[in-house]
Amino acid sequence: MKKAIFPGSFDPFTIGHYDIVNRGLKLFDEIVISIGRNSAKKETFPIREREEAIRKIFKDEPRISVRIYDCLTVDFAREVGAQFILRGVRCVQDFEYERNMAEANKELGEIETILLYTRPEYAHISSTLVRDLYSYNKDVSAYVPNKLR
Ligand code: ADP
Repeated sequence: MKKAIFPGSFDPFTIGHYDIVNRGLKLFDEIVISIGRNSAKKETFPIREREEAIRKIFKDEPRISVRIYDCLTVDFAREVGAQFILRGVRCVQDFEYERNMAEANKELGEIETILLYTRPEYAHISSTLVRDLYSYNKDVSAYVPNKLR
């Protein structure tokens, strides 16, 4: 059975994330959306709210589960029995970052990272964009999955 974790902050979960997960379902039997607790990063949406919102989006998809973790990503992957890390790439900056992470995770945990390129129409979508709009009371519905609108 092929199992992947999709780790991230998801503060909040966007249609860019949603698309990567749905495309990942064609590659993996199971995906664990893994929300990293990062004390160095200031959170906008409380982590439990993020967890609940993502669960709601995928409530009819038994191959998806949602977890919060606060350890090294490779250790968490091992804990849930995942052989792969799924990540998305939007631009060269993402690529450089993801390459370093992938190399480190391969060295630390013998785990393979699978990168999916963003759809061009989602390349500009980020949690930061949604947070900014949200902070100015702007409509974010175009950037978050249907079930959260
Ligand atoms: P992190 O804080 O670990 O970067 P994010 O929640 O920002 O976590 O993103 C999680 C993953 O989703 C990352 O691999 C990121 O590159 C990817 N991602 C974010 N937005 C998009 C998008 N619009 N299209 C494709 N991948 C994306």
